[in-house]
Amino acid sequence: MSGLDTILSRLDADIRAENDWGDVAAYIPELAGVDPAQFGIAVATANGQCHVAGDWDTGFSVQSITKIFTLAVALGRSGDQLWHRVGREPSGLAFNSIVQLEQEQGRPRNPFINAGAIVTTDEVLGNRPPREALAEIVQFVRHAAGDENIHINERVAASETSFGHRNFALAHFLAAHDNLRNTPENTLGTYFHHCALEMTTRQLAMAGRFLVDAPGLPRLISTGRIRRLNALMMTCGHYDGSGDFAYRVGLPGKSGVGGGILAIVPGIASVAVWSPGLNRYGNSKKGTEALATLARQMNWSVF
Ligand code: GLN
Repeated sequence: MSGLDTILSRLDADIRAENDWGDVAAYIPELAGVDPAQFGIAVATANGQCHVAGDWDTGFSVQSITKIFTLAVALGRSGDQLWHRVGREPSGLAFNSIVQLEQEQGRPRNPFINAGAIVTTDEVLGNRPPREALAEIVQFVRHAAGDENIHINERVAASETSFGHRNFALAHFLAAHDNLRNTPENTLGTYFHHCALEMTTRQLAMAGRFLVDAPGLPRLISTGRIRRLNALMMTCGHYDGSGDFAYRVGLPGKSGVGGGILAIVPGIASVAVWSPGLNRYGNSKKGTEALATLARQMNWSVF
C-alpha cells in the first residue's frame, strides 16, 4: 500500500466512526431515499494511478457536478459568447435562488448556480434536439473518464422533472428576459438529464483529470481554459458555501446535491468524494470534511 492508500483508508474509518452524516436532499424524491451513512473517495493522480477507499464503487447522482462538463462543452461550442448571457461572480445565495435573477434582469451571476447552468445548457442545446446535446455532454464525460460505462439515470431525471417547479420558474424568468433560446421544457429536459448522470467516485475522479493540467493526462481543453474553469470552481463551485470551502479545503471544487464533490489539485490530482448527507449550504457534509483532512495531510493547497 502506498502512503496515499493508507491515508484514504484511515480517513474512511475516521469518517464512519463519527456518525453525523447530515441530511440527504429531499426535494428530488428519487434522492430522498438514499442512505446517508455512506462514504466513498477516489484520487486519480497525474502519474496515472487511482487510489480508492470506502464506497468508491457505488454509483451516485452527480447532479450539479455535471455543470463543469456542460460549461466546458458550451465554451468549446461558442467560446466567450456565453459570458454575454451569464456572469462570473459568486452569488452569495443558495444554488436555486431566484431573487438575484429579478434584480439583475435575467443575467445569472455565474454558470454554477441553477439559473446560470440552465443558460449554459441552453447554449449547448443551440437549435438541436435535446438528445443530440445530451449525447455530446455524456460523450465528453465518458471521454474524460476513459470509461464508456457512464449513463444517465432516467428515474432521477423523471423525478426531478415532476418536482422541478423552482427550476421551471427560473427558466421562465430567463425566457421573460430574453435569455433563453429554447423552450423551458427542452432546456430543462436537457438540464435535468445531464444532472442525472450516475457515476462512481472512481469514474468522477478519472473524468476530473482533464482539469488537472499535467503531462500525460487527457487534454480536452487548453491550459488557459483549465485555469479559468478552476477559478470559477474556487469562487462559485459551492454556492454560498464557496468561501467556507476555500477556507477549509483550499482547492477548487464543485459539489452536487447527490453528495458528490470533485476537487482539483492543479498539476497533481483529481479527487472525487461522495457522502449523500448535506450541510446547510447543500454541499456534502462528510465529503467537505474528508477533503479538508486529505488536503491538510497531503499538504495540498492552491494558496
Ligand atoms: N439538479 C439539481 C437542481 O437543479 C442540481 C442542484 C445541485 O446539485 N446543487 O436542483
